[in-house]
Amino acid sequence: MSEPTNPSDPEVVLTGGPVVQLPTVHGTFQAQAWHEEATGIEHMSVTVPVAEGSLPLVRVHSECLTGDVFGSYRCDCGEQLDYALRQVQEHGGAVVYLRGQEGRGIGLSNKLRAYALQEAGADTVEANEQLGLPVDARSYGAASAILRQLGFEQIRLLSNNPVKAERLRALGIDVVQTEPAEVPSRAENLRYLQTKRDKMNHQLTLADSAQQHRNGRPA
Ligand SMILES: [Zn+2]
Repeated sequence: MSEPTNPSDPEVVLTGGPVVQLPTVHGTFQAQAWHEEATGIEHMSVTVPVAEGSLPLVRVHSECLTGDVFGSYRCDCGEQLDYALRQVQEHGGAVVYLRGQEGRGIGLSNKLRAYALQEAGADTVEANEQLGLPVDARSYGAASAILRQLGFEQIRLLSNNPVKAERLRALGIDVVQTEPAEVPSRAENLRYLQTKRDKMNHQLTLADSAQQHRNGRPA
């Protein structure tokens, strides 16, 4: 681990609770809550056993109340989460659900303030800048600590965001491979996804993704 730790990713001490069965629409997971000592934030992991000799498929998902719970089409979070849960169920691995990261870390109220600015013409990056807030304030210290405790230190990461893989690597998680987590774009989130691609370096194909999904393969 020669790379310096990102200052946004301080070491996180957390305690895992009991492992319980969580039957869901996607299948049954083993669920565990994780309590961050310093902040009191509670994260959650759901895991599926991995076949011997294969690498766990991992999605590190930042909480998005509007997308994950209300099914908002302003972003692609809810559909990405569903996709990740299906993939992990099929291949084995984990979805690590990071709470306290709403709106890439700016909080729910600020995220809706940013939406108001977007309705007035700003893109997702400009809106945060107009509010004087960071474009991405997420932290991955908790994710790496949870993965370590789950015994998933060597993983295949389900993500379109190259920075996420880099930051997990800097925290000692061996990201052997990244797999795309692209879901078809929609009219409502196309501009948001274009901004993620053009300003935040996310690897998205956008226009092609709907077609590739129809063929049963994500982009
Ligand atoms: Zn979202």
